[in-house]
Amino acid sequence: MTRDMICVSCPIGCALHVELDDAGKVLSVSGNTCKRGEQYAIDECTNPVRMLTSTVRVNGGKLPVVPVKTSVPIPKGKMFECMAAINNEVADAPIKLGDVLIANVCDTGADIVATNEI
Ligand code: SF4
Repeated sequence: MTRDMICVSCPIGCALHVELDDAGKVLSVSGNTCKRGEQYAIDECTNPVRMLTSTVRVNGGKLPVVPVKTSVPIPKGKMFECMAAINNEVADAPIKLGDVLIANVCDTGADIVATNEI
């Protein structure tokens, strides 16, 4: 089995080619021009993660929502569950940059943090 992908670890965007066995184990990575590309391909095939950005509703602020992001990348498979948790959250103003609005969202180990002030 093979997979082709673009490395997004830097703006060069190398085209990666990955060979996997039937169990999904990475056998080889080619097309990368540095080690980061190899690691990106392995992570993408075995445990893909993404930063999640969104907004949380705010009570008592000048604006109705505050932008937020996860403190670290979370598993792709948890994105919808985390979005539901974010959509259910309402934070009280004032909110400072970096405030944790949801700790350990959906047991991912990531916090939902404010990326602006309200
Ligand atoms: S393989 Fe290395 S050089 Fe190529 S896009 Fe990824 S990080 Fe950049």
